[in-house]
Amino acid sequence: MKAIAIISGGLDSSLAIKAIQLQNIEVIAVHFLIPFVMNTKESIHEAAAKKITEHLNCEFKLVVLDEAYLEMFRNPNHGYGGNLNPCIDCKILMLKHAKKIMQESGASFVVTGEVLGQRPMSQNKQALAAIEKESGLDGLLLRPLSAKLLPETIPQREGWLKEEYLFDFSGRSRKPQIGLAANWGITDYPWPAGGCLLTDPHFCIRLADLIKYDECTRENIELLKLGRHFRINDKTKLILGRNSQENEKLLRLIKDGDITFEPNSLPGPTAILRGNITQGDKDSACRLIARYTSKDKPVEVKMSGLGLLDEEIIIAEPYIEEEIQKIRI
Ligand code: SF4
Repeated sequence: MKAIAIISGGLDSSLAIKAIQLQNIEVIAVHFLIPFVMNTKESIHEAAAKKITEHLNCEFKLVVLDEAYLEMFRNPNHGYGGNLNPCIDCKILMLKHAKKIMQESGASFVVTGEVLGQRPMSQNKQALAAIEKESGLDGLLLRPLSAKLLPETIPQREGWLKEEYLFDFSGRSRKPQIGLAANWGITDYPWPAGGCLLTDPHFCIRLADLIKYDECTRENIELLKLGRHFRINDKTKLILGRNSQENEKLLRLIKDGDITFEPNSLPGPTAILRGNITQGDKDSACRLIARYTSKDKPVEVKMSGLGLLDEEIIIAEPYIEEEIQKIRI
């Protein structure tokens, strides 16, 4: 028998996998990569998930959710949590994909590391029931860590599982999980710091600006993960690197129509201007570059981009702090 488990990279999903493996059921661990993690090449969570599946000796599958995620994110049926985190709809979307993998791979049920009451929005009894129903996994979604507190699932009813590997954990305390990990000899489990960017209030301020101006695209979300952001007007935004690493990353994220700015002969930031760009917007961008290059002296700023025939150089007066405050996001 086989089961599909969603693995986040944290302790709970690792324990849920182990609880199923101990019953001689093969587990395929699926990690979902969403647009709102820090580094989409290999996020800290993806790396942690891979490491734990190696340790647990189970198959690892990565599923990238891009457009499907954004479509859900723009209009989540169950709304957002404390920030812009649509946790209930996010889980439903992941579980719908897990169900498909279950059917394709001949697995019999799906497992998650959810713990009753651990998160107020998405892990209360009602939310857990809605997630199960709306993902189409009625009776086939097992949460081993809280299984004894939740309605019986088909795997339990059919006797596929031993009671001793199902638990009654609830609430926010991690002590029972830590104790269980110690009992099972899982000592080197990953516990990545930080989480989904949708729970980060600072990130969500920038994201709310994108939503307000209807600019919530994959490319714009990537830009939100770095630099200083300025709303020049309803149609134009400037993103400015805070260090040489960010300057380089910004240059890799340029798209058609963007204009880039940097000081002509001094060390300083690189910036991308994106939107429906006017001469006034270019002037503002040059003044921002000047402000973050010299603070109070005029600076020669170089502009380049696919939208310009040649490189242009402008001498710009730095913005003063009050002007910056009005446009900084
Ligand atoms: S915290 Fe982020 S990844 Fe986790 S369920 Fe909520 S929206 Fe999804």
